[in-house]
This record gives sequence, C-alpha cells and structure tokens, in this order.
Amino acid sequence: MSTNKTSTGEELLAFFRGEYVPISEARVSVMTHALHYATAVFEGIRGNWNEEKGLIHIFKLREHYERMLRGCRLLMLDIPYSLEDLCQITVELVERNGHRQDIYIRPLAYKSAELVANLKLQDLASDFTLITVPFGNYLGSDELRCCTSSWRRPEDTMIPTHIKSSASYINSILAKTEATLAGFDEAIILNQKGHVCEGSGENLFMVSRGRLITPLLEDNALPGFTRETIMDLAEREFSIEVVERSIDRSELYLADEVFLTGTAAHLTPVVELDNRAIADGKTGPISSKLQRMYFDIVVGKNPKYLHWCTTAQPRLITA
Ligand code: PMP
Repeated sequence: MSTNKTSTGEELLAFFRGEYVPISEARVSVMTHALHYATAVFEGIRGNWNEEKGLIHIFKLREHYERMLRGCRLLMLDIPYSLEDLCQITVELVERNGHRQDIYIRPLAYKSAELVANLKLQDLASDFTLITVPFGNYLGSDELRCCTSSWRRPEDTMIPTHIKSSASYINSILAKTEATLAGFDEAIILNQKGHVCEGSGENLFMVSRGRLITPLLEDNALPGFTRETIMDLAEREFSIEVVERSIDRSELYLADEVFLTGTAAHLTPVVELDNRAIADGKTGPISSKLQRMYFDIVVGKNPKYLHWCTTAQPRLITA
C-alpha cells in the first residue's frame, strides 16, 4: 500500500535523530526497547493533494500532535520537540519529499533506549521519527462489508484507550486479520460490556430516525478527529442531532445507516454487517452528504474550513 519512493522514483526522506535522511538510512538497533515492548505512540495524519492549488492540505495537524504529546506524557516519552517544532518539522518533510499526491504522515515517538529486560518507562531514552508516504484508498472499498469481531476492546484499566499507543494496535490487528481472512472488509469491535466500540482503525456512527449516534468515549473508543469533525459538521451544517451513547450490537442490524470515520478511512459507509444488509444495503443519504462535505474540506476546497488545514508546497526534487 505504501512505498518509500516518490512518484518519480527517488527515495523519500525521513526525519530521524534530528535530521532529514533517506528512509533506508533511518534504522534502529534490534536492542531498541520499543521494538520489544511497543513502548511507543504514533499518529496517522493525512495530507491531501489539491491539484488546482498545487498544495498538500494537512488536516488538523496541531490536533494530531496534541494527541501524540498526551500519549508521550502518559508513557513518559520525553522527546526534545515542542508542538510547534513537530508541526514545522512535518511541513518541512512533506515539502522536501515533493509529494504531488495524497499522502499519509506517520510520526512515532518511542523508547529508543537500547536495553531489553527492563519493564518500566522511567529513565529510558526516547526519540521521535517521522515518515511521509503516498497513500490512497485505505479500506479498499467504498461500501464496507463488516463482521462483529470475536476480539473485544481492552478497558482503560488494561491499556490506555485515549491515546494511540503502539501496544493497543495488537488488538486492532488481530480483529482486522480475523475479519479479512473471513472475507470481510473490516471488523466492528465490541467492548467488555458487549457495547459497540469502533472499527479496527475507525470510529463508528449509526443513523437512526434522523439522529446521528456514536459510542461514548467511555465505551473505550479512541477520541478521533474525524469523529469530532463529523459531529461538528452534522450539527452545524445540517442541523442533525448528534447523540453520544452506548450502542448495542443488535441496534446496528436495525440502523438506517452505519458508517466508519478515521483519518485513513475518511467517512466510509458500512452496507452490510454479519451478512445482513444495513437498511437497503446501499450508502444512505446522511452518510452521503456528510461524506461529500468532509472530502471537500480535507482537500482544501471549502473556504469556510480552510483553518483546519495546514498547507505544504512540494519542492522540486533534485537528485
Ligand atoms: N479508532 C482507532 C482504533 C484508530 O486507530 C483511529 C485512527 N487514528 C480512529 C479510531 C480514528 O481516529 P482519527 O479520526 O483521529 O484518525
């Protein structure tokens, strides 16, 4: 899905140990603490190419780094960069990589100490690295067929659920593996109480009697920015009532519409769950209009919401 080459074949750069270096030179030791214990937090940010303006639009850049820095605080990852530094490094890397297409931006803060058999967070060196790669459709389909996962989301008392820690993604990966091996596009994961939580890398919404309903963050869903954006747009632009509450599994079978939201997934409708069609098995009208508006905004085509985007101008790559 992703590559370390530009569209014209040059090797992309990474930000690594304080410098911009070719991705092939950005390597860590097998002794790295994070490699053994997933002592890391990361972000997934999208840069959307606007051909008309010749600019990449990076959606909610600061918010992503705020979430990453919250994760750093929780996992005692002391990285030598401020929020402003992180935003500036990101724009610089995107520009240097000269992307003229949609991209995925992956920052990672990790325990870089080369020391194993050490099960604690304090007194271990940390570092920050960043890559940007070309990126297209993440889920591989515009209308998803999903299954309910046999895996459950961990509680916050097991693994922190409000941050994007690398460790928590083993749960997502197990669920997604199970779903895709069974021929589905994506997994819907329940929490310990059996309430609907989210997809493997997306938040979830259902439409019922004209209202938009999404699980509470207390039900262990990640506080996603796409979720927040969709809730905001639904209320502000379409006067749709938005309700955060626990959702039972069987409510999804009876919903008028279901969709997933995430940086990688954008807004993608779920048309089938556990081999049952959701309503008439087609993308619903509320999903469609929210999706259209969201797409325009993230690519910088809606002047009212340009402040949600940070722009980067690709530089010409010279070998
Ligand atoms: N839940 C999980 C588990 C995720 O990995 C993601 C992707 N970051 C989301 C929800 C959606 O979050 P966002 O909209 O901020 O990308």
